[in-house]
Amino acid sequence: MKLVQPLQALIDQLLKLPSIGPKSAQRLAMFILKLSDEEARQLAISIIDAKKKIFPCPTCGYLTDVDPCMICADQRRDNTLLCIAEEVTDVMAIERTGFSGRYFVLNKDFNLLKGNGIEDIDIKSLQERIVNSGVQEVVLALNPDIDGEVLSRYLASIVAKQGIKVTRLAYGLPVGGDIEYTDEITLKKAIEGRSEF
Ligand SMILES: [Zn+2]
Repeated sequence: MKLVQPLQALIDQLLKLPSIGPKSAQRLAMFILKLSDEEARQLAISIIDAKKKIFPCPTCGYLTDVDPCMICADQRRDNTLLCIAEEVTDVMAIERTGFSGRYFVLNKDFNLLKGNGIEDIDIKSLQERIVNSGVQEVVLALNPDIDGEVLSRYLASIVAKQGIKVTRLAYGLPVGGDIEYTDEITLKKAIEGRSEF
């Protein structure tokens, strides 16, 4: 069925969102059409605002609207402990466990089989961070899948060369799973039970 152009355009945009199929896109479009003018305006403004104001923290890579981000600015955190995570959503999950160290977020969607990944990691800034912030232990919190395993070995060898202790999350995380979706208790136990690489 042919839809009027503005409705089709809205559906086409919504279809670009992850895990949204044609039916969901249509449902969301109908929901948006039922919003008041003010609610629709707020939704549009939030998207533009977030895009305009949010950027990765230059120090740790976490998303922020100020430099340094709230994690880097928090003086109560443990400078000696640096957690390397793949994505911001992993940091959000780790934060819920009460972890109080600092972070280095790779901010990359790794797919090593397809050849994208390792060479894009900013190793220099990781090495500088370790030296300049008095890091004594690097915790590798990469996803328990093949890419995470390869990345962990690679990063461990680099960090070990700097004479810094490297640990990884304890086994118990579902293999092939995703840190982002791991429940709080399992993740907390995996951090507490971390072992030397
Ligand atoms: Zn930061």
